[in-house]
Amino acid sequence: MSALTLVTEPHSIPFSGEAELSVIIPVFNESESIIECHSRVCLVLESLNEASEIIYVNDGSTDDSWGQLFELSSPVKHVTITTINLSRNFGKEAAMSAGLVEAKGDAVILLDADLQDPPELIPEMLTEWRKGYDVVDMKRKSRDGESWFKIFTASLFYKVINNLSDLPIPENVGDFRLLDRKVVDQINQLPEKTRFMKGLFAWPGFRRTTLEFNRDPRIAGETKWNYTKLIHLAFEGITSFSTKPLRVATMAGLFTSACAIAMMLFVLFKTVLFGEMVAGYPTLITVILLLGGVQLLSIGLMGEYVGRLFIEAKGRPLYLIMDKNNKTMSDNVTEVEQKLG
Ligand code: UDP
Ligand code: MG
Repeated sequence: MSALTLVTEPHSIPFSGEAELSVIIPVFNESESIIECHSRVCLVLESLNEASEIIYVNDGSTDDSWGQLFELSSPVKHVTITTINLSRNFGKEAAMSAGLVEAKGDAVILLDADLQDPPELIPEMLTEWRKGYDVVDMKRKSRDGESWFKIFTASLFYKVINNLSDLPIPENVGDFRLLDRKVVDQINQLPEKTRFMKGLFAWPGFRRTTLEFNRDPRIAGETKWNYTKLIHLAFEGITSFSTKPLRVATMAGLFTSACAIAMMLFVLFKTVLFGEMVAGYPTLITVILLLGGVQLLSIGLMGEYVGRLFIEAKGRPLYLIMDKNNKTMSDNVTEVEQKLG
């Protein structure tokens, strides 16, 4: 079957076969949240009565998270637990990519381990998917527990990236979303190593819908994103989805060159008409500093893109998997038997 025919196939047919729904949860130092997260997700999946899998990706946690994930068991027959242990902290984008490769479901949902994205919304997301939508974006109506500065800078980032990029990236939509199998397959095929997931989720297009929700505060612990990481992500996002900044650098170069020519003519005529002036240090230093600034900025911008090329050219894997486990409910019985000897 060609990719094109696959793309147009509707999926209002009920679930069939194994692991119809996959829930991916990236985990980095979330030992205080894992147990509650697991029980809330399991409770929702239990009520759904569909064959599902929960994929926890431990992104090189330095606390007890992997130990806890390893011990998790499935309380329901139709829910499988897969735990993946990455060899170190590769970042949330890589952890989500690992989960997407592992996911077998017809519908795939990404969720945060700190329960900021309520798992209780999964049934609503599935309802939209069954209506025929391939992507269900979850838009934050409110962002409890986040500082005004973070909300302001986030909104600024979306404005900048949407002005620069030809691809509209929905504002206030995080990584919490549902993706249909065909969208997941397309994303998994994208070869790039710089993975700005919010852009990659928007890139395939397909039939999309948006649900609004109130984003809860973290149930425990602290956000893993400091401003340095966020600025890095913003640069990654902009340079992965637009080359316009390079054009801006060219325009700035053209503009300063035009100013320099005008200035040169002005100085030339002034000297011819009024003789040579000794004064002029402030003008000179201003021009030197301005030109130096514009040049450095342009070189820096080019460096950003060359750096991306360098990373892509090396072609290193996005992440390395150290351990992987699959557990079904029947494993619980075996474990208890083993413990009893
Ligand atoms: N996370 C991860 N790797 C990282 C940073 C974060 O897997 O390097 C996970 C984290 O455990 C959580 C999710 O990504 O499940 C979102 O992280 P966080 O809550 O810190 O981000 P925020 O909600 O503040 O944007
Ligand atoms: Mg969070």
